[in-house]
Parts: sequence; structure tokens; C-alpha cells
Amino acid sequence: MRIVINGIGIAGPALAHWLAKSGHDVLLVEAAPSLRTAGYVVDFWGIGYDIVERMGLIDEIRALGYQVREVRIVDRNGRKKGGFDVDVFRRMTRGRFTTVRRSDISATMYRAIQGEVETIFGDSVASIDDHGDGVRVGFDHAAEREVDLVVGADGLHSRVRPLVFGPESDVETSLGYHVVAFEAGGHRPRDELVFVSHSLPGRQISRFSMRDDRTLFLFIFRDEYMDSATEEPKAVVSRVFRGAGWEWPKIEAELERATDIYFDRVSQIRMRRWTRGRTALVGDAAACVSLMAGEGTGLAIAEAYVLAGELHACRGDFATAFGRYEQRLMPFLAKKQQSATKFAASFAPKTPLGVQFRNQVTQLMRLPFVADLVIGRALRDDIVLPQYRLPSR
Ligand SMILES: Cc1cc2nc3c(=O)[nH]c(=O)nc-3n(C[C@H](O)[C@H](O)[C@H](O)COP(=O)(O)OP(=O)(O)OC[C@H]3O[C@@H](n4cnc5c(N)ncnc54)[C@H](O)[C@@H]3O)c2cc1C
Repeated sequence: MRIVINGIGIAGPALAHWLAKSGHDVLLVEAAPSLRTAGYVVDFWGIGYDIVERMGLIDEIRALGYQVREVRIVDRNGRKKGGFDVDVFRRMTRGRFTTVRRSDISATMYRAIQGEVETIFGDSVASIDDHGDGVRVGFDHAAEREVDLVVGADGLHSRVRPLVFGPESDVETSLGYHVVAFEAGGHRPRDELVFVSHSLPGRQISRFSMRDDRTLFLFIFRDEYMDSATEEPKAVVSRVFRGAGWEWPKIEAELERATDIYFDRVSQIRMRRWTRGRTALVGDAAACVSLMAGEGTGLAIAEAYVLAGELHACRGDFATAFGRYEQRLMPFLAKKQQSATKFAASFAPKTPLGVQFRNQVTQLMRLPFVADLVIGRALRDDIVLPQYRLPSR
């Protein structure tokens, strides 16, 4: 089949990988002018990890990743107030866990299919005319094409989704936070392999020291701190974290210099169907679990694998394949969303006492039964994926 995939993030290249290996004719379209190289880091484990291993790419991804040792929570004077040894995650995942730049996972998967898949950067699917026997796809720049299927792998704010399934406002559920992330070079101090966070009521700043003397900064704050939806990220962060103590003056100076800033609502996409006619959604476009799940990347890869696997197993009967794709994964994703929503409720407590209590709980994570109680359910993937007979490399 001729299949257009909109978006080269995580789900897009993962799906293109399996579809191309199965002999489909794939066109990947990405709005950005090239693959992104920076961005935030993600924790990576679970079914997504297993699938990337099947793709033959896990060693490469682990080599690019960080084996984080500690999550450390500090007060306004930099004194340790909470946190835990990340060995607890490694124990629970039997060492199948790494922390890696989202863009490195994306680039690794893309590199593995480069040359086998046609790619257009700096463009987007702009119209979808499903006429039953096929789909006429329009783009912002490229000429129209007649294809068999269209897949929206274009993230939380998908453009394919509203073209076929209706407005974003109908399917987006806010978890009550905003997030800002950016990288800086040469920042001091550094703490190798330690994720350091400073929590304030309703707000949290974190920094993570990366290779090549880069540091990632991550800010999460409750929606109450937003003045207006149109405020610029630099202005928001400066206002929300003013007087935060710890390393704030230095971090604010890095923020001033930053040129590539990620800024968004923390929300989920909850849909009744991920497919309609000849269009399917995958990854965040279909079922964003949000950063509160800490697993969106792996889940996007799993969705891509199942969609490609079902298309392969159903031998061109895309309607049956789409139905099975939804049946297999929708209940599982709904549970992941529920557990992320619960976690979000306690993520940034609103009062100093709440922050203190949360910090103490994190220190108890060294006890296996507490760790299991707090994150066990979120870490477990209660699903067995079919072993599709998909060629891997
Ligand atoms: C701060 C933060 C921390 C996170 N932490 C974790 C974590 O620890 N673990 C984890 O597993 N997940 C984490 N996630 C979630 C994870 O990043 C996502 O779930 C994952 O990236 C989803 O992949 P995707 O391919 O569906 O979407 P994306 O990765 O968002 O990729 C979508 C792609 O589509 C492109 N695109 C957008 N619009 C268009 C258009 N109109 N036309 C063409 N292309 C378009 C984008 O440029 C992008 O390349 C985190 C997310 C955030 C924001």
C-alpha cells in the first residue's frame, strides 16, 4: 500500500520502520525543516524498549542514553530534602531502563530507514479527501498525492486529527500543568547522572547534566500560575519562579539566552476511535498519556508496532487491521492515562506542608514495597503484544 505518515517524532519513524520492512511504499512528512537534535530527555523502558530491541536498535539507544543514579530534591538553599536511588527503577525493570533524549530515539529510528523511505521535511498534510477507494492527500507545499492510507503521527497537537476526527478541544483533557524545557551549554554546577529538582508549592524546577557540557532545564507549574494563554515562555517562567532561591538567578540568565524553548500544556488526548475510513492516528496524536506517565515514548512505539503488525497480518484488509489495532490497545492506553492522571494530582503539591510530605515519601522509595506502591503499577505494562511476523532489519 501507499501510506503517508505525517510527523517524524517517535511514532512516525517507528511505524515507517515496520511498514517499509513489510514492503509498503511509505512517505514520511515532517513540519520541521530537519530532524530536531536537542530537546528534553525521556525515561525509556517497558514494551517500547522491547520493541526497539526487536528493531535491532536498543544498543545504539542505550549508548546515547544516561544510566541516571539518583533523583535528588533540594530546598531553596540546595540542601537535600528528598529523592531516591534510581536503582529502584532498574530493579523493577530488570535493568531494561534508560534515560535518553527524545530526539536521539527519533533520529536513531529514522537513520535506520533513511534511504528506504521517501521523506519530505518542512511540509505537512493539509487536506484529506477519503473517497472510499483511496485518499487524495494535499500538502502545504508538495503536490497532491493519491494514496491508500494516511497516518497522523504528528503529536499532541496533531493536524491530521482535526481534519478527520474533529476539533482538538473535544479530545484534549488538561492535567492542570504547563511545562517548559530548554538546554544550555556550560552551566555550573553539574551533578553527573543526578536529576536535581527544587520543589516549591505548585511549581518545580529541575536540571540534568548531559554530555558535551549541556544542561537540560525543566519547569513544571500548575495552571493557576498562567496569566494568559498568549504569554511568552520566558516571561511566564521568569514571573512564576521569581524568588525561587536555589540556583534561580543563574538559571534565569540561561533562560534569557535560550533560543529553543519547549512550552506546552500538560494534557492527554482521549478518543473513542483512533481510526476513521482510511485514516489512523498513532502516538500522542491518538492517545497522549502526557509526561506524567513517563512512558509516552514507549507507548507510541508500541502503537506503531501493533498498527503495522495488524496491517501485515490482515494482508491489506486495512479496516479489519484498524479495528484490531484499537481493540488491542485502547483499554491498555486508557489505564495508562488513568494512572498518569492520578500521579499528576500529587506531582506538585499546593502547600509547603504538602511539598514536605511528598519529599518524605520519595525518601521511602528505597523500600521495595513503598516503591511498588508508588510507581509499581505505572511501571508495569500489563499487556502481551502479539509476535507479528514482521521482518526487522
Ligand atoms: C517534558 C516532557 C517530558 C517527557 N518525558 C517522558 C518520559 O520520561 N518518558 C516517556 O516515555 N515519554 C515522555 N514524554 C512524552 C513523549 O515525549 C511523547 O509521548 C512522545 O514523544 C510521543 O511521540 P509522537 O511521535 O507521538 O509525538 P512527538 O514526539 O511529539 O512527534 C510528533 C512529530 O510530528 C511533527 N509534527 C507536528 N505537527 C506536524 C504537522 N502538521 N505536519 C508534520 N509534522 C508535524 C513534530 O514536529 C514532531 O516531529 C515527555 C514529554 C514531555 C513534553
